[in-house]
Amino acid sequence: MLSRRKWIKRLSRLPLVGGFVSGGILATGSARAAETVARDYFGELGVRPVINAAGAYTTLTASIMPDEVLAAYRQTAGEYVSYNELHDAVGRKIAELVGCEAAMVTAGAASAMTLATAGVLTGLDEEKAKRIPIDLSGMKHEVIVQKAHIVGYTHAIINCGVKLVVVERERELINAISDNTALLYFTDEHGLDGRVGHEAFVKMGKENGIPTFIDAAASIPPKENISKFTDMGFDLVAISGGKAIRGPQSAGLLMGRKDLVEAARFNGPPTSDRIGRGMKVNKEELVAMWIAVERFLKSDYDKEYETWMTQVDWLKDQLSSVEGLTAESIIPQSPNTVPTLQLTLQSGRFAATGYKLQNALLEGTPSVAVARPREDGFNLTTWMMKPKHLATVAMRVKEELLKAQRAV
Ligand SMILES: *Cc1c(COP(=O)(O)O)cnc(C)c1O
Repeated sequence: MLSRRKWIKRLSRLPLVGGFVSGGILATGSARAAETVARDYFGELGVRPVINAAGAYTTLTASIMPDEVLAAYRQTAGEYVSYNELHDAVGRKIAELVGCEAAMVTAGAASAMTLATAGVLTGLDEEKAKRIPIDLSGMKHEVIVQKAHIVGYTHAIINCGVKLVVVERERELINAISDNTALLYFTDEHGLDGRVGHEAFVKMGKENGIPTFIDAAASIPPKENISKFTDMGFDLVAISGGKAIRGPQSAGLLMGRKDLVEAARFNGPPTSDRIGRGMKVNKEELVAMWIAVERFLKSDYDKEYETWMTQVDWLKDQLSSVEGLTAESIIPQSPNTVPTLQLTLQSGRFAATGYKLQNALLEGTPSVAVARPREDGFNLTTWMMKPKHLATVAMRVKEELLKAQRAV
């Protein structure tokens, strides 16, 4: 045991000791919160904040939660509730808002993919759930996917121990369906690359009585797409909670058929002997995700979109005077179908590549993150940027471009 003297000495090395001592152990939550506000957590950690001119990227912590969402997070943190009861209640609210049969909050879109797959394999069979991913005997264990739809996130599906059956053409897909087929898996990550489109894919699932799943994380925004794929007939739809919807970064949604969402939930927390036990979503995130969906659906998307267009056009004006640079306002097809400024370095005019410039901007002060670096350029977006940073982004990008400019 530490002596009281040693204990106080140790405490005094902590930055907050003044706060604790003056407030005492009975300090109210809000008094303590007020004292912590002034603390520079990132600074103490030696981590620099980044200006986000890139978009909703996981490596940049994706998005910033709006005040309403943070309020839900804070206000729910101070009480105990039944985890299962809360989980189910939030799922029902979100399903109502979205207009789908059932929904659940997951620990992100990737978690939704794993839980959805596990649910399709096990239903509500406890004994089967315990065996995933080691022993899939007695379960359908094949997932059919188009070659173009194999992406990094596919790992979240094979976590369950399933075998991927890879096809390219519609005929091949039909032929691949067998008694072992558990799921037909589709992703929007690469836009329209697959040979079998959304509707034909859904139809094949229905005709053969096999559930269809879509990772639609890349299709939000626009906000209408939150219900587009359940409406289209996909049995299960996964999206990210912390990107365009601006919920907690470690949250996502699984939406769709009631029995399948229930089975997915069965494979997740809080039960310990399940593949999804490590994919816990805490009570604050559950509620915050519900409020984030509510806010997202209420928001005036057209107005936001117009703001982003105006901002991108403003950036374009600021940079168009840089000789040797082509600046174009574009809307990429997928993912992130939002106003974007595409900057192209004309051949021979700059001494740096897009990759080098991206790095210089990130390493510079302040740190600015840009998107899609390539040999001859990079992109800027404003949809995840704080408006107050717009002028700084224009200035820093221009500075780096001028530094790299070759005399002609
Ligand atoms: C971001 C993303 C995911 C993963 O989302 P998380 O919520 O971070 O798990 C999955 N698929 C696609 C296409 C994505 O863009």
